[in-house]
Amino acid sequence: MAMDRSLFEQKIAQLRQEYRAQLPKRITEVGELAEMLVPEPWPRDIAHTLRQRLHQFTGSAATFNLPELGAAAQRSELALKPWVEQAQPPTPAVYAEIIHALTDFVELARTFQIDCAHAAATRTTPDSFADLPTVSTPITRNEQRPGAPMPQNGNGRTIALFEDDPAAAADLTLQLRHFGYDVQLLPDLAALPALLNASRPAAVIMDIMFPEGDRAGITALVEFQAAGSTLDDIPIIFTSAREDFTARLAAVRAGAAAYFVKPLNIGALIDTIDRLTGLRVEEPLRVLCVDDDQALTEMYAAGLRNAGIVTRIVSDPKLATNALRNFQADLLLLDMHMPGCTGLELAAVIRQQPAYTSLPIVFLSAETDPIQQATARDHGGDDFLTKPISTAALVHAVTTRAQRARSMRALMIRDSLTGLLNHSATATLLEIEVERAQRSGIPLSVVMLDIDYFKNVNDTYGHGVGDSVLRDLARLLQQRLRRSDVIGRYGGEEFLLILPGMTGTTTLQRLDAIRMSFAALRHPADTGSFHVTFSAGIATLRTQYSDPIRIMQAADSALYAAKRNGRNQVYLT
Ligand code: GH3
Ligand code: MG
Ligand code: MG
Repeated sequence: MAMDRSLFEQKIAQLRQEYRAQLPKRITEVGELAEMLVPEPWPRDIAHTLRQRLHQFTGSAATFNLPELGAAAQRSELALKPWVEQAQPPTPAVYAEIIHALTDFVELARTFQIDCAHAAATRTTPDSFADLPTVSTPITRNEQRPGAPMPQNGNGRTIALFEDDPAAAADLTLQLRHFGYDVQLLPDLAALPALLNASRPAAVIMDIMFPEGDRAGITALVEFQAAGSTLDDIPIIFTSAREDFTARLAAVRAGAAAYFVKPLNIGALIDTIDRLTGLRVEEPLRVLCVDDDQALTEMYAAGLRNAGIVTRIVSDPKLATNALRNFQADLLLLDMHMPGCTGLELAAVIRQQPAYTSLPIVFLSAETDPIQQATARDHGGDDFLTKPISTAALVHAVTTRAQRARSMRALMIRDSLTGLLNHSATATLLEIEVERAQRSGIPLSVVMLDIDYFKNVNDTYGHGVGDSVLRDLARLLQQRLRRSDVIGRYGGEEFLLILPGMTGTTTLQRLDAIRMSFAALRHPADTGSFHVTFSAGIATLRTQYSDPIRIMQAADSALYAAKRNGRNQVYLT
């Protein structure tokens, strides 16, 4: 039956909107890849990924009614295309052309992004940064090496903040303190060398523009290193009103670990600081290898495990889909030639299941025929690695792809305001966790949490302040719950928590402690600061609440009992 015309148009409009909503992230991704495209040694796999991303833009941008963006993507893609398969770097002139095309694209893309976000302020674009010397190689600073030493400083939570605008400095200091960081405020860049050499903060946040010049922040950092000093493991985070590619590139070249555009998204900033200072341990990546050559696969697996990647081997392709279901792989490594079923067929079988459409599949095979390799890509393979391969190359290839896939997935299942899991992701995980708890017999607690009188917060202080209260609560929950707990933003100011292995009483104690911390947080507003509370209801998995719907309803009733009894309390059914 044909879809109603207006419905169809609505759907198209919605898809367009969704596409535009994803643009900033995708543009940033291309920008980041472009920054890694150093002339030597020529990073072939980055060139390849970059070309793929550009290619996606070429097609999709036009479809979604952004023809200029599509055309710019195509120009970059064509410039890059001949160099994707080459081991030698392009000549300096050609390299310059590629970078030129990429810069054009990223800059054009950012103007669309600004349109999309209805950014109010036109950003100043001072002179070029291109003449700054390159000090340290990009990429490496950002990588988390397993076993890297924790920063050696006070309690490991002192952040040095270079900001000459007193109002901005006060605001940021207040917010960072909310999240348990000490802040050392330094209004003057002259203090930078002494600070980096002597007091060793956990991280440095600095502005780019200072009275000394539009790029004084970057220059100070470059000069510090040019004088022979090193940053060691102190992450530098730049904040700036500029979001153009050249400014970002200059920051990367100066050794910056992160770059945030003002107005700052505090949630994302805290996330980054937690990650860079080693306070947040990332979940290890997970790889499933399907290969009938046991000895060789064991060897590859050992290399991956040694790099901290959780690796499982399946030698019978028939068992692969089952293994995937139980293993939560970030990436699938597939042999091409196996008895019973080829790697191509297996990839096709896996791709036909909606749950795995975005799972990266990498073929690892002795096959060197380019036609065969191309066929593998056509069948849903994302990449092709040739045996024999060095452990380092394998680890690198697997890590970059798995990491990227993980962040893409996170993008789809996360709520953009708080970074928490969105409604549908939370609901799916509730089903999975209820089933898992029933199978294993371990306890499971489910919490419904709702902010008290939140409408008043919006009415009194404005929606923007309301939003930052939501972000604060999200951060607090992330800090105080375990990584294995599910924290979802279930609705506007309602959160659903799923705590596997936790009994009702333990959950009650923990939630009550979080409730008191939250009530004690002071939220800044123009007219003075204020406090907010929440109420929560807890239900545990029992025979009478044995399915996801019932357990949710039970948690919800407990929440409303807590509300009726005066709010700012946690109830257990
Ligand atoms: P109660 O204690 O009974 O829960 O009172 P309440 O005011 O919190 O509850 P109510 O459900 O009446 O209002 C919820 C408010 O949450 C209304 C809505 O504007 C606000 N809200 C929902 N989502 C968001 C959001 O993303 N940002 C902001 N700032 N407010 C939101
Ligand atoms: Mg409420
Ligand atoms: Mg509500």
